[in-house]
Amino acid sequence: MANRYYVDRPIRFAAGEPPRVTLAGSEAHHLIHVMRAAEGARVVLFDGSGAEFPSRVERVGRADLELTVLQRHEVNRELPRHVALGVSLPKGERQRWLVEKAVELGVAELIPLATLRSVAQPVQQALDRLRRAVIEASKQCGRNRLMQIAEPMDWPDFIEATRREPQRLLAHPGCGPSGRESRAKTGPPHGFPPPADRVLAAIGPEGGLAPEEAAVAKAAGWRPVGLGPRILRTETAALVMAALAGSG
Ligand code: SAM
Repeated sequence: MANRYYVDRPIRFAAGEPPRVTLAGSEAHHLIHVMRAAEGARVVLFDGSGAEFPSRVERVGRADLELTVLQRHEVNRELPRHVALGVSLPKGERQRWLVEKAVELGVAELIPLATLRSVAQPVQQALDRLRRAVIEASKQCGRNRLMQIAEPMDWPDFIEATRREPQRLLAHPGCGPSGRESRAKTGPPHGFPPPADRVLAAIGPEGGLAPEEAAVAKAAGWRPVGLGPRILRTETAALVMAALAGSG
């Protein structure tokens, strides 16, 4: 999936002249100074709308490039269903890693959650960095739709706002078999149902959800899911939930 570049505004194909696009910022920097693109070079643009656009470089400046868009191809590399993750994000690099892998797994939306034991409260700068990570991962894995990073929500607001979601799964340690029982039982994760058209999964912070937070979710109709007898880090649990929700 080399040579893909993101354009942050819709590329419109109208009758007549093919569209011209000016690429600036970090995308242009990469194409000019890392890839050393010359006039006539072919690249693929995407604008997050679900299509990709084979294009030709017409002019190379010091900090921007002009391209002619040659074609529009609808290329669907999305999951067959809408998978969203509400996650109390880990700290630092593990946050970025989680976002990158969630993009690769096809997650449509990630909602950062503020819970009682959250270790990271994403500020605007951190959210911007994560949105940039979404673009980088999409370039690499070939997605033509960007995973959305929602504005952070407090746990009670999140539970309230998602009441109408048809399938809400709460990753909750201890609600599956454990100890000797788990060694005998090697079946699918405990309580994970066949995924519906839309799946929303919630994953708690490193210190776990407080009992009252789990109780509020269960009272609102969330289904607890156990991922086995070992305690997974938040980012591992989030990706397992995404992979299970996306498969089948
Ligand atoms: N001591 C904490 C607890 O018992 O909740 C551990 C938290 S774990 C490091 C972080 C989050 O990952 C949990 O809140 C849960 O959402 C998810 N998780 C980790 N291991 C899990 C498991 N075996 N089954 C279900 N969810 C799990």
